[in-house]
Amino acid sequence: MKVLCAFKTELDLNDHQRTACIKHAGAARWAYNWGLARKQEAFEAGLKTPTAIDLHRELNVLKHTEISWMYEVSKTAPQEALRNLDRAFDHFFRRVKLKKQGKLKVKVGFPKFKSKKNGIGNFQLWGAIHVHKKSIQLPRLGVLRLKESGYLPVEGARILNATISERAGRWFVSIQCEVEMPDPVRSEKPICGVDLGIARMATGSDGKVFENPKALKSNLGKIIRLQRSISRRMKGSANRKKAVQQLAKAHQKVANIRKDSIHQVTSQLSKTKSVVVLEDLNVSGMVKNHHLAQAISDVGFYEFRRQLMYKSKWYGCEVILADRFFPSSKFCSRCGYKLDKLDLKVREWDCPSCGTHHDRDLNAAYNLESLAPTTASSAGSNACEEDIRPVVIQADLDEAGTELQSARCRFV
Ligand SMILES: [Zn+2]
Repeated sequence: MKVLCAFKTELDLNDHQRTACIKHAGAARWAYNWGLARKQEAFEAGLKTPTAIDLHRELNVLKHTEISWMYEVSKTAPQEALRNLDRAFDHFFRRVKLKKQGKLKVKVGFPKFKSKKNGIGNFQLWGAIHVHKKSIQLPRLGVLRLKESGYLPVEGARILNATISERAGRWFVSIQCEVEMPDPVRSEKPICGVDLGIARMATGSDGKVFENPKALKSNLGKIIRLQRSISRRMKGSANRKKAVQQLAKAHQKVANIRKDSIHQVTSQLSKTKSVVVLEDLNVSGMVKNHHLAQAISDVGFYEFRRQLMYKSKWYGCEVILADRFFPSSKFCSRCGYKLDKLDLKVREWDCPSCGTHHDRDLNAAYNLESLAPTTASSAGSNACEEDIRPVVIQADLDEAGTELQSARCRFV
């Protein structure tokens, strides 16, 4: 099985290389903004808006005269930026259409100009890319040292392109490759219901609990302090710039911890289970609830689901999304009794009908597990009785994820 994979790792640049990278990112940003302005002009004049190919042709003519500095950078950087611009417009029109159909409730934003204030940005290169154990060789930039040795695939992968990006003062390269992977084997692995939570990141119906790193919460004090120190510094001053950089670093640290823990859990689940049943949580709706927003963003529900979806394809695991209105917490997994109300604060409860003592998250995980198709019943679980087993209609997650509306499961 051939899969597209991206490998991202940090670069160890010298001053000369850093300057070259900044120049490339600058050229990409310039091309994007110039292209956006050109498209707007054409639109306002009632003409056909130029595509990325038209714009690149125009750009090549300009290179001879006004923007000769662009010869210093690889031609793929501005070219890819123009393609990204086309994608931004495709995305915009797709969302406008969805909005018209009433499938999208949020505001649809028109593509914006890129500003240096929002970071140096990134650029893409393709062509002769060679990976060595401790370095990567890129067109125009030459051999760049890597901070991590042996992470990028040296053999057995066809490299399609490389993206260089900057974040909080650190530079990264991400290479997109076509990798040969062993075909997934569907073996006798257990079914697992997974309840995503705020107190704990995930609870499996096999009893396994994945604790939350609470990365943001423990670093929040620091972030608030840095935020305040920025607002005290004069606009445009060097000290303000420094403080902004520090804040960006703190934010990145949080993001890294969060991503790492999600990667560990999703890898483990997709490798060891045959079916994983998740709640299709309405993340964007939940983040609007300000009491929950911080905690939910901290756990990264959407990222969790996204990772599980692609990893499950690699390892032959099936992901089922339960309807977002399925009250997984309120049912007793032993007898099927449904509570009218269960406060978020209540972590444990006793079933008034059969008297079973329930852990809130574990009970929800049992209920989710019972949504899996009945052909294979997993051992050791106390799933629902036959008569209250819900019907599951499975659908693939669409690209935008949150925009998928159709109900997928119903109680009979
Ligand atoms: Zn009960």
